[in-house]
Amino acid sequence: MADWVRTIRVKPTKIAVEIIARTGKVRAMKMTEPCPCGLDKTYQDCCYAYHSGEATAQSPEALMRSRYSAFVGRLASYLEATWHSSSRPPLLDLSDSPNWLKLQVISSSVDQNKGQVHFRAFYKDGNDVAFMEEQSDFVQEDGKWYYLDGRVNND
Ligand SMILES: [Zn+2]
Repeated sequence: MADWVRTIRVKPTKIAVEIIARTGKVRAMKMTEPCPCGLDKTYQDCCYAYHSGEATAQSPEALMRSRYSAFVGRLASYLEATWHSSSRPPLLDLSDSPNWLKLQVISSSVDQNKGQVHFRAFYKDGNDVAFMEEQSDFVQEDGKWYYLDGRVNND
């Protein structure tokens, strides 16, 4: 288990991850509900395995999906742990993070230890739905994938 999940499992169907206390915003992820990442699985059978440290994402797309779910749950520690040290922000503040609604993976590719994921992340913008679109770069080191950086397409 990763060290940030020591205090989780408030109830069997909810987890609260300690680092969320840093921003004071808890958005408990429900084990038996559909995973936020958009795959047809419950959170318990999907990204929870990565967030808890029980499993490691085996592809850039799996890592991307688990990071999206971590943004939904504001799991800053997981985002930091999967962010390459060369580009990781010194302190990740998710307090202004939008209310994410849905992830759409447009394409993904792997070439040896490098990978790319092109996605759209939809969020609530007042009464509207907006999205940010990004081409993200990933790199694999010692068998683990890390988010490197991304190019946002805004239009
Ligand atoms: Zn998932």
